[in-house]
Amino acid sequence: MKPNSPPIPSFDPEAIALDPLPQAARLPLPNAVNPNRFQSVYFYALVTMHLLALATLIPWLFNWYAVLFFAFGIYFFGQGINLCYHRVLTHRSVKFPLWLEHFWTVIALCCMEDTPGKWVTTHRHHHNHSDETDDPHSPLVTLWWSHFQWMTLHNRDTHSIEAFQKYSKDILCDPFYMKLEKKKWISPAIYLAHAAVVVALGATLGWFTGHSFTATLQGGLSFLVWGVILRTVAVWHITWSVNSLTHTFGYRNHANDDRSRNNWLVAILASGEGWHNNHHHDQASASNQHRWWEFDLTYYHIILLKWMGLATQVIAPKHIRRAASAKARAAAATTMTKGTIPMVPEAAASSIVIQQPD
Ligand SMILES: [Zn+2]
Ligand SMILES: [Zn+2]
Repeated sequence: MKPNSPPIPSFDPEAIALDPLPQAARLPLPNAVNPNRFQSVYFYALVTMHLLALATLIPWLFNWYAVLFFAFGIYFFGQGINLCYHRVLTHRSVKFPLWLEHFWTVIALCCMEDTPGKWVTTHRHHHNHSDETDDPHSPLVTLWWSHFQWMTLHNRDTHSIEAFQKYSKDILCDPFYMKLEKKKWISPAIYLAHAAVVVALGATLGWFTGHSFTATLQGGLSFLVWGVILRTVAVWHITWSVNSLTHTFGYRNHANDDRSRNNWLVAILASGEGWHNNHHHDQASASNQHRWWEFDLTYYHIILLKWMGLATQVIAPKHIRRAASAKARAAAATTMTKGTIPMVPEAAASSIVIQQPD
């Protein structure tokens, strides 16, 4: 290491003395929430999907292939939310080619978590007002409010033209994303189309394993209830847990101005999103991993895509960015020193031999 270059700091957690977080006063509903304007579409979608998910209790619909697809789907379709909606679109922590960004947006739409415009607006608003009155889903109202109730009442801070203007102009200048807002049938159509593909996959598998109409039907329906319906409900609860559990239970590495926590259970289920205290501390970073054991699977997905040449402008964690800019400043200072005319001592000057040009 050059004597002038600053040492690269390792992450130095402020933890240890941070917990326990003192009790905070309860918050009222956000000012922009209208308690008389019930969001019936969201409410009925939640209730219907939960009721339909109970079909997984029917023994005839149990199928190990469907269960495996369910587990795979939690990761794969969850990446539409964790990777695309959150890190690519909301925080711009990494850049994808447009076709890949749109592919992952379609995968996110298969999770039935609203359009990218509304999701990004809500999450940016959350970061602007975390655990304050205007936070759209703080558990300081109630834990259930932060988990799902916040969706059942209209909030003009997240669902209005003004909110789009403030938070998601950069998203809605993309014609595809704007079309999703204007033509409301597209998102449900994408969801139904993906359900049909999953059912076809299950039916094909059923045919090859059972060679009968009953086996084909059982395969298709088991994939529908496990691979589509229960998986959608599971991904919902995992995403909602980032709003509820990681603002309530867990430990802190950073004394942020909010109640965000690192929660290992949510981190496992949500592929790294549960390191939420780290994320609130450094929202721009593509990685939520601040300690070696805070495994962030979504970040490794980004690294894989970068290695494949499909991810660029990956934003490093804050302490690495600081070290890099300090190094750059030191390098610039060295260059400037080298650029000035050096003073040559007289004795040394007399020994300089000026070469004749050839
Ligand atoms: Zn948060
Ligand atoms: Zn975020």
